[in-house]
Amino acid sequence: MAITARHRAYRFRCYPTLEQARQLVQTFGCVRLVYNMALDARAKAWYRRQERVNYVQTSALLTKWKRRNDLAFLNEVSSVPLQQALRHLQHAYAGFFEKRTDYPHFKRKRVGTGSAEYTKSAFTFRAGELRLAKQADPLRIRWSRPLPHGSEPTMVTVSRDASGRWFVSMLIEEDIPTLPERGEAVGVDAGLSALFTLSTGERIVNPRHERGDRARIRQRQQALSRKRKGSNNYHKAQIRLARAHARVADRRRDFLHKLTTRLVRENQVIAVEDLNVRGMLSNHTLARAIADASWSTFRRMLEYKAEWYGRDLVVVDRFMPSSKICSACGTIKRTMPLNARTFTCSDKACGHVEDRDANAAKNILAAGLAVAACGDGVRPKRS
Ligand SMILES: [Zn+2]
Repeated sequence: MAITARHRAYRFRCYPTLEQARQLVQTFGCVRLVYNMALDARAKAWYRRQERVNYVQTSALLTKWKRRNDLAFLNEVSSVPLQQALRHLQHAYAGFFEKRTDYPHFKRKRVGTGSAEYTKSAFTFRAGELRLAKQADPLRIRWSRPLPHGSEPTMVTVSRDASGRWFVSMLIEEDIPTLPERGEAVGVDAGLSALFTLSTGERIVNPRHERGDRARIRQRQQALSRKRKGSNNYHKAQIRLARAHARVADRRRDFLHKLTTRLVRENQVIAVEDLNVRGMLSNHTLARAIADASWSTFRRMLEYKAEWYGRDLVVVDRFMPSSKICSACGTIKRTMPLNARTFTCSDKACGHVEDRDANAAKNILAAGLAVAACGDGVRPKRS
């Protein structure tokens, strides 16, 4: 059995002291500033002079900025998270140049929120105690599950969300055996009425608690809208709303972890459609926004789990008319209204009748298997 090394993030709540919190919030501010300044420099160089500024050049810029009197405070925080911010920006540009993502955005300031990434040179981890650069005391962490025996983090990210919760995420390198190969393959269609439909016909619906969670969000949005902007009560209502959002996101993540682990365990090949997430996000309902966020998280989880366990994730071209093709005979219908829940093949062809999403999932599977067989027409997997 083959062994693959994987990086796995372990995320915990943490409780910085007042002094640590102050120092971390200051670091978040510097990270955001450096990211935005470097983005500004790169964008101006490109639009004004058609010049590309690379990571090494932004790194040289950072050195210059640190010497400026008005930016002297950049020297008060660890330099590692600032360097990491430049790496993240580089990554964002790479995604843009490969046409995977939008042009990088400026990081918006939300009071007290942010994140900072520390590589190995900027923290120590001894006897279960984590000390970050520029901090004397270890960070108080709630170990909700143990780290793998004898493991050490290779990277540590500290963050604080809009509801004021602190998290520390540790990247651990683990050796894991790949799963034994198996014959099964599955196609997955992403939708709204069912979150996902599998080519086996199984419908994976929204987790049951979500209706209640969404109602809570709406109620808190209304409560917020009744408060006077900037008042103390407004701020409290804002935090309450952020907590409700965080709760949905947490439960969603758990749900998607279970689902993707199951799909990867049960199947050798998993075929998904390359949906245009950016296009989907233009619809503003809450259900829609959550479904869209789920879809990209689902894709990302499938990608890394398939790689860990030696499975094949095949991404089918988004322009394949998966909902218009008859999965039984291959006939393509000219139109398929968005609200039609059932696919009905023409009587002149085979007359096949099937649930719309299950039919689409079967087509995605067929296209995925064809692609997997000839290795053609699929975009390279993201690494
Ligand atoms: Zn047919």
